[in-house]
Amino acid sequence: MKDSICKLNTSIRSVLTYINAAPAGIAFIVDNKDVLCGVLTDGDIRRALIAGRDLDDNLTSSDLAPFVKAKRGENIESLLSKTSKKVRIIPIVDEDDKLVDYFRYEHKTKFTPISEPSLNGNEYKYLEDAFLSTWISSKGKYINQFEEEFAKYIGTKHGIAVSNGTVAIHIILEALGIGAGDEVIVPDLTFAATINTVLHAGATPVIVDIEEDSWCIDPSKIEAAITPKTKAIIPVHIYGQPCDMDPIMAIADKHNLTVIEDAAEAHGATYKGKKVGSIGHAATFSFFSNKIVTTGEGGMCMVHDDELNEKIRILRDHGMNPNKKYWHDVVGYNYRMTNLQAAIGCAQIERIDEIIRRRKEIESEYKKIFADTDYKIEWQADLENRERVNWLVSAKLIDMERQEFIDFFKTKSVDIRPFFFPLSAMPLYAKYAHTECEVSHRIAKIGISFPTFNHVDLEVFKQL
Ligand SMILES: *Cc1c(COP(=O)(O)O)cnc(C)c1O
Repeated sequence: MKDSICKLNTSIRSVLTYINAAPAGIAFIVDNKDVLCGVLTDGDIRRALIAGRDLDDNLTSSDLAPFVKAKRGENIESLLSKTSKKVRIIPIVDEDDKLVDYFRYEHKTKFTPISEPSLNGNEYKYLEDAFLSTWISSKGKYINQFEEEFAKYIGTKHGIAVSNGTVAIHIILEALGIGAGDEVIVPDLTFAATINTVLHAGATPVIVDIEEDSWCIDPSKIEAAITPKTKAIIPVHIYGQPCDMDPIMAIADKHNLTVIEDAAEAHGATYKGKKVGSIGHAATFSFFSNKIVTTGEGGMCMVHDDELNEKIRILRDHGMNPNKKYWHDVVGYNYRMTNLQAAIGCAQIERIDEIIRRRKEIESEYKKIFADTDYKIEWQADLENRERVNWLVSAKLIDMERQEFIDFFKTKSVDIRPFFFPLSAMPLYAKYAHTECEVSHRIAKIGISFPTFNHVDLEVFKQL
């Protein structure tokens, strides 16, 4: 601070030299008794020169304007209240008006989260409509509308809206009668909900490694994991990349297994022209706030089969007989979505193509930005027959310590996320691995995801 203190009656030139060298870019002017009598910036000097003062003139009290100061001991709120767009440095004085310190208000760089929902279509309008209708629980027009419209978009006969993407998987397993003694095949690289739901159902998960290029379950490694107890396969379209569905469906056919696609991260992705979520015997989506389509919390089960649809609907509603109120034939759940959530979902569906297009554009922007840097980044692959979507723009970071990369962006207030841990890397799930999952362990260590949402500001990246 001493570097910023200037005496009155020194030359304007030397005040300017002080300002130039001062850490705060400001000079505190004191009189011969060290009493603070002014604060000068280079802008103040510029204005003085324009007004006719000369660099070699001595600074006098008439060069000084009234200024904002604070007394020693003032609290942070009081200091903040004294700052403004123009005044960002507040000198702090003691009882004798002598400078003891200064307070500097830093404009924090805006935090860039990994994801933020885009809700600027009809979301609020429909939500308000649902609210004002008083149908705020799980009955109301938006539930049916959302189920119909999303099922139409994906290309399944039925869509059953549920509370979230996790229970969507669980309820399908239950409806299929999968439980104790049964085995269900899951990929090693996924969000834990995929395996947790198998355990919720009382079945035994069997973990299979992933493909090198798609990061999805490796179909060539599935058959070896099948036993007489195997009942289902849950392929996960990870980070928006479709699984290689043809061989998976062929294996399922051969062994009479059910395929439940976990499409929580892949709204709108296609495999050979068909939307993921319409290819397996059943599928699930999540509408959590960071997913491509959101309802806050929410999920949907997609099925073609009428009987399975009926079973899921009953289980969703406490297992109650749909034709006989309060009569229960099965132990069910309350897994319903609210009309309020569905209202948001209906508005999201109106914008789904635009949301997907924008996310693709963001990926292109990242690619362009990083192409001009020294970072070696291998972006998620574009594969034949698979049209992926961008849940989170994802990539492999080559030749660099991942934590260093993440920490660097933390200093820029940007949230870069590492990939999920491989399930088999966690002691909780390790025992369910069919074999060692070398590929997923290798890729999960270097995988990163970038902030991906409609209104993301990539300015920080452009300044790399
Ligand atoms: C998000 C997600 C889920 C769970 O969805 P929720 O709505 O958060 O319960 C399941 N599987 C995968 C792969 C996910 O990414």
